[in-house]
Amino acid sequence: MKFRRQQALLVLILTADIFLGGGLIRMAAESGERAAVSAVFAGKEAEDRRGGPEQESAGTVALTFDDGPNERYTEALLDGLEKRGVKASFFLLGDCIRGNEATVKRMDAEGHLIGVHGMSHVDLTGEDVETALGQLRQAREMIAQITGKRPEYMRPPYGNWNGALAERTEMEPVFWSVDTLDWKLRDAEAITERTLHCVEDGSVILMHDGFETSVEAAFAIIDNLLADGYTFVTADELMID
Ligand code: ZN
Repeated sequence: MKFRRQQALLVLILTADIFLGGGLIRMAAESGERAAVSAVFAGKEAEDRRGGPEQESAGTVALTFDDGPNERYTEALLDGLEKRGVKASFFLLGDCIRGNEATVKRMDAEGHLIGVHGMSHVDLTGEDVETALGQLRQAREMIAQITGKRPEYMRPPYGNWNGALAERTEMEPVFWSVDTLDWKLRDAEAITERTLHCVEDGSVILMHDGFETSVEAAFAIIDNLLADGYTFVTADELMID
């Protein structure tokens, strides 16, 4: 059984090699299934590079980070974003802001978009409307106290939202189009590959700054997409377009 699978894999790799040129067989030989996945991504990258250096812009994307600020990882993320000249969007939890006010201040000072994710991480559609709105308002005021700006955007936890909340909140909900599953994968390479495979012009990428692997993946995603000619903007800029 195992032998047959490897044979099938070899056929796949050889087929890929015919289209893409050398180099893949060695990579494929390193580790079975994983190599096949890599070959697919290598294919995508090779294809992208055919655009050549004259290619102007591949598109515009927004990186968004939920559930922070995180006292262990957010500062490191901000350092890397600053180094790369990339602005991101952060949807913060009121309960995580306490004690991390300086980080929130820095996000704002460095041009990132700050939005609301709630006070604690609850499904807002499971609360009565007044309670849910009260939590959003409270987190919004906490941020306003620190930055002097009242956030205009929010992201509902789990993406759960409804008409009653939409009608009553003063903030604009921001969803996403690429779910990196970073919280689940906890593997920078896997997160990066998955994301690069799904990204297109206008993508809103969902990540979480509470994991070292997410921060690492975010830098790899940025470096790859910048090299491919993408521009990073904050989520509000994509929504206006
Ligand atoms: Zn969340």
